Amino acid sequence: MVLLSKSSGEIKIKHLIKRARPFSEPFRITKGKSFRLKDIDPGDTLHLQSEDKPRAKEVLAMGVQLLAELQEMLYAQDRWSVLIVLQAMDAAGKDSTIKHIMSGVNPQGCQVHSFKAPSEEELDHDYLWRSMRALPTRGNMGIFNRSYYEETLVVRVHQEFLAKQKLPQRLITKNIWKERFEDIRNFESYLTRNGIVVRKFFLHVSKEEQERRFIERIENPEKNWKFSASDIKERAYWDDYMKAYEDMIRNTATKEAPWYVVPADNKWFTRLVVAAAIIDALDSLGLHYPIVGKQKLEELEEARKTLLTEKENGKKSKNKT
Ligand code: ATP
Ligand code: MG
Repeated sequence: MVLLSKSSGEIKIKHLIKRARPFSEPFRITKGKSFRLKDIDPGDTLHLQSEDKPRAKEVLAMGVQLLAELQEMLYAQDRWSVLIVLQAMDAAGKDSTIKHIMSGVNPQGCQVHSFKAPSEEELDHDYLWRSMRALPTRGNMGIFNRSYYEETLVVRVHQEFLAKQKLPQRLITKNIWKERFEDIRNFESYLTRNGIVVRKFFLHVSKEEQERRFIERIENPEKNWKFSASDIKERAYWDDYMKAYEDMIRNTATKEAPWYVVPADNKWFTRLVVAAAIIDALDSLGLHYPIVGKQKLEELEEARKTLLTEKENGKKSKNKT
């Protein structure tokens, strides 16, 4: 299925982009000040019911195809790049969201980077160092599966991680989180001004749904590998994490680098919202294939003639034999 084949394809794309928007808009936070996590229900599916699931899956399939078309233009144009930041509690569906949304995208133009606890080498640098090195290059999409935001989440909830960062003692004050938010806001402004478009997603799963998914991971042998004992340990800090997430969003949601707080108790809905938001981001760039200049058109014409002559000559010599 090719959506952008002929000129009518462009109309179809515009139509699909318009249809996608209502799925992401309600969850976009551009001003954090008044944001409260409890205003977002992890079970929300907007007007869609569970019987709409098959239809939603069809719409998602179209969205994935559209995303692939837009990504190809992004790559061909080779100017903008897009950074997608995914944050969530364990089992909220980060991995499967990446797998589904990016299933149509050309792997050459998209890189996923997973951030785990920092290595010795990483701890020897400032905390943005490892992120800087993993940023998407021009024309590419980059996905951060966890990110520098962990510096205001796990590091805040477990302050022993902060102690490992070898910061000079006098720089560790009660203002450290406020300062990190400020630095991250500045970092994202810097990226934006360099043509790297930043979109951030918090997949908001409920504690009950996390429990259900953990039990499934324990009981289903094919899912055992996904479960780690440390996941249960982190779950015990649920309220601290929720406070840290809320504060993070309040302090780092901006117009240029918005947060999407995505209801994550229904995976099919999560994927729809994330796909719609990325489509919206790509649409905002006014992408198009590079416009071919006069000289290039002449070159193409010349090449066409050469190939046609070769073909003709080939036919003639075949007829002779
Ligand atoms: P995930 O939990 O993202 O699905 P995973 O289970 O494959 O991935 P883990 O070994 O759990 O991988 O690695 C992710 C862990 O790394 C998370 O618990 C996260 O909090 C931790 N982490 C990420 N960044 C940092 C950081 N800057 N400092 C300390 N811990 C971090
Ligand atoms: Mg984990």
